[in-house]
Amino acid sequence: MTGKLAICGGEPVRKTMLPYGHQWLDQRDLSAVVETLKGDWITQGPTINEFEQRMADYCGTRYAVAVSSGTAALHAACAVAGIATGDEAITTPLTFAATANAVVYCGGRPVFADIRHDTLNIDPAEIERRITRNAKAILPVDFTGHPADLDAIRDLAKAHDLIVIEDAAHALGAEYHGHKIGSLSDMTILSFHPVKHITTGEGGMVLTNDETFYEKLKVFRHHGIVKDPDKLTGDEGPWYYEIQELGYNLRITDFQCALGLSQMDKLDRFVQRRREIAARYTEAFSQLPEIITPCEADDVQAAYHIYVIQLRTELLRVGRREIFEALRAENIGVNVHYVPVHYHPFYQREFGYRQGDYPSVENYYQRALTLPLFPKMNDQDVDDVVSAVRKMIDYYHS
Ligand SMILES: *Cc1c(COP(=O)(O)O)cnc(C)c1O
Repeated sequence: MTGKLAICGGEPVRKTMLPYGHQWLDQRDLSAVVETLKGDWITQGPTINEFEQRMADYCGTRYAVAVSSGTAALHAACAVAGIATGDEAITTPLTFAATANAVVYCGGRPVFADIRHDTLNIDPAEIERRITRNAKAILPVDFTGHPADLDAIRDLAKAHDLIVIEDAAHALGAEYHGHKIGSLSDMTILSFHPVKHITTGEGGMVLTNDETFYEKLKVFRHHGIVKDPDKLTGDEGPWYYEIQELGYNLRITDFQCALGLSQMDKLDRFVQRRREIAARYTEAFSQLPEIITPCEADDVQAAYHIYVIQLRTELLRVGRREIFEALRAENIGVNVHYVPVHYHPFYQREFGYRQGDYPSVENYYQRALTLPLFPKMNDQDVDDVVSAVRKMIDYYHS
């Protein structure tokens, strides 16, 4: 006896908390970092290029620029897309706030467009409705790792002369119409935060096939410094460089990229294990009327950064909050992704958004619950989650 009873009665299903996401580092990862630290370059070294090349090859894209975080990647992409004061960028309210924050960093206005019920991704018809003369870019998010409607979004962008910046922080390894995510938008961003598919601690990347964006991204990452003699307006001497546009320090380190490279060896296995666990959940829950399981379109392979169920609370005696607390009491580290961006006081104050503006996202948000999903989970962990969810449903069904 641990003494502490679960909310749904009896002992908790697990003795220790199972988090919703977790990195998986092995001995090779650790050695790769240590070897790099023993070398000559701690920050700007050759491993950065190697990691960029490896990712570009994996995703089938021409260029890759590694930066200090996924958020930095979004910031850089928005900046080189030319988003500036007065410009609008259309994105989903169902994302981590960094997607919209990056638009604001550049002086732009995030314009939200509601989601589809099935894939939970931004709805192209809603995007179209919100395109104005000030629109500059569309930022679709491949929510949970399921690719957004990239063909329809690209067509809209072409017709209205907009740039597509795809937030693929959830979608590394996903496929859309037989192509890996990364080469399907003007720019695609990745995150290497520990809960994502591979990790560098903190880290991110911008992928592009466009040489102009590529050159600008490298300059933006490094304070805006231009050294190429052909591009300088003056010539003070061999030491001379110029800041022609404002840049930032968004650099990643060589030893982080050594970790990233080593993690790349495991990426396909990680994605496969994520898909396996997701399939087990879907199999276990699809018979329960109280739970809506995630959908996967026929022409995509989702990468399952997260596994989100929606509770049909009309069939339960309590709401999502009680269920969240009950599962936490079973030591299942459930989470909620995400508080809709237009709910945040900053977005309401600065841009006039209000609760009620985006019915589909808000309906989803009332019911959403993220279950633990990461490659290092074993089958017993998966079974524990299934048992805890079944126990909760038995206890609360009406
Ligand atoms: C994780 C994430 C980011 C930000 O990435 P960081 O590396 O944490 O800065 C951006 N967008 C989405 C959708 C994310 O999930």
